[in-house]
Amino acid sequence: MSNNKKVNHLGIMGGTFDPIHYGHLVAAEMARSKFNLSKVLFIPTGIPPHKNRRDISAGELRFEMVERAIQDNPAFACSSLEIERQGPSYTVETLRVLSRAWPEHELYFITGTDALREIFSWREAEEILTLIEFIGAARPGFDASDFLEHVQEEHPDIIGKIHYLEVPALAISSTDIRFRVRHRQPIRYLLPESVRLFIQEHNLYT
Ligand code: ATP
Ligand code: MG
Repeated sequence: MSNNKKVNHLGIMGGTFDPIHYGHLVAAEMARSKFNLSKVLFIPTGIPPHKNRRDISAGELRFEMVERAIQDNPAFACSSLEIERQGPSYTVETLRVLSRAWPEHELYFITGTDALREIFSWREAEEILTLIEFIGAARPGFDASDFLEHVQEEHPDIIGKIHYLEVPALAISSTDIRFRVRHRQPIRYLLPESVRLFIQEHNLYT
């Protein structure tokens, strides 16, 4: 079903990134290589519709952490599109903007398998699936095989747009990192050192 006429492939990695960690970076890098993505655009969410955390860090801080984390990878870039938008962040709106901005690019949305399993609950999921392909990167604890079987049976027309990606599994989450900071446990080696220092400097998650 995918439109293989478009030779340029653009990866999009959405997330709260509070903070960004090696789980995100490994998923993005493996997706870049496997799907020939010329670029992966990290897009920190504004107000995430699925999260009810009230203490989410300011968009500018999350954006800056992403910038620090990706600076040594020439194929990675960061967009403030969602944090600058008013109201809740809906992926479908972001994707409409991006597909207009990059018309000759095939868009690949990269998620972990936890997020992949939820995509049918996203606003205008059907519309999203007409705009892009999904790459679901393996995440420990979130098996995708039942989900993929379900799609195969119930939505055979879109199964070709959902790509499962095996990556070296990293059981790292932002929730755990925030917990560790709060409880004075180490976070070194779970995320780039530049991000760890930023968290320290700005007293985040304490
Ligand atoms: P939180 O614990 O706050 O939800 P998180 O670690 O899940 O944070 P998010 O910002 O929610 O990070 O995730 C952004 C995207 O990255 C999602 O698609 C998520 O599935 C994916 N992702 C996060 N961590 C990993 C990981 N360790 N391996 C693979 N994918 C991941
Ligand atoms: Mg998450």
